[in-house]
Amino acid sequence: MALNASADPARLAIFTDFDGTLVDLAETPQDIEIATDLSERIQRTMADLDSAFAVITGRPITDIDRFLAPLTLPIAGAHGTERRRADGSLEAPDQNLIEQIDAIENSLLPLVAAHPELLIERKPGTLALHFRQAPQLENACRIALHEAIQDTENFGILEGKMVLEARPNGVDKGKALRAFMAEEPFAGRTPIFIGDDVTDEDAFAAAQDLGGVGIKLGQGETIAKMRIADVQSVHALLTGLGDIAQGRKAPQETH
Ligand SMILES: [Mg+2]
Repeated sequence: MALNASADPARLAIFTDFDGTLVDLAETPQDIEIATDLSERIQRTMADLDSAFAVITGRPITDIDRFLAPLTLPIAGAHGTERRRADGSLEAPDQNLIEQIDAIENSLLPLVAAHPELLIERKPGTLALHFRQAPQLENACRIALHEAIQDTENFGILEGKMVLEARPNGVDKGKALRAFMAEEPFAGRTPIFIGDDVTDEDAFAAAQDLGGVGIKLGQGETIAKMRIADVQSVHALLTGLGDIAQGRKAPQETH
């Protein structure tokens, strides 16, 4: 896709991943620690950026709402299978998709019954099979999940850290970023996406394709043009970008 010629580089839209980017990873997804000032910091950044801030995550939207309460941000959840727009309206998975995930879950039940240390996590448009408590079962999980998606229309398998996830093909974080960028208050702005994992690569590509920048947290191969060291630096960057946006606005306000 062509560079968005109408994008205004002085007007930023910031998109971030959640786990490993806004919060440090923990032993289990439930154990993450949220910085006490995170909600407040995001709120300030949103005010500085005329609300052009969204989270794009593998988690369900409800998880992020709980962690960042009382904020209800624009969020693409479960890799973009669900999306809450800036106006509050929701794009949810259709019934057909939910039925396919039911079928995937049903075919995994025998394996999980035999190995209670495995965990199935249902998300709005995906299903994750966690084997953190039983790493020796990784291959058995992979085989079972491949068999489980066999009869579905179009699922693929996403490999994560101690987790395998069945996700509809054609859904990724890059598509979610593009969807936001077609809407207010993001349209016409220059997108920045910050993330730490392989599933963030699609969003780096989309941001850069639209004339913006991908920022990769930590090590690992990436197409992102920039890197950042850690979660604390991401927090500082959010505040810094808000300051820049405010500085640019100041001259206009004196007119
Ligand atoms: Mg992450």
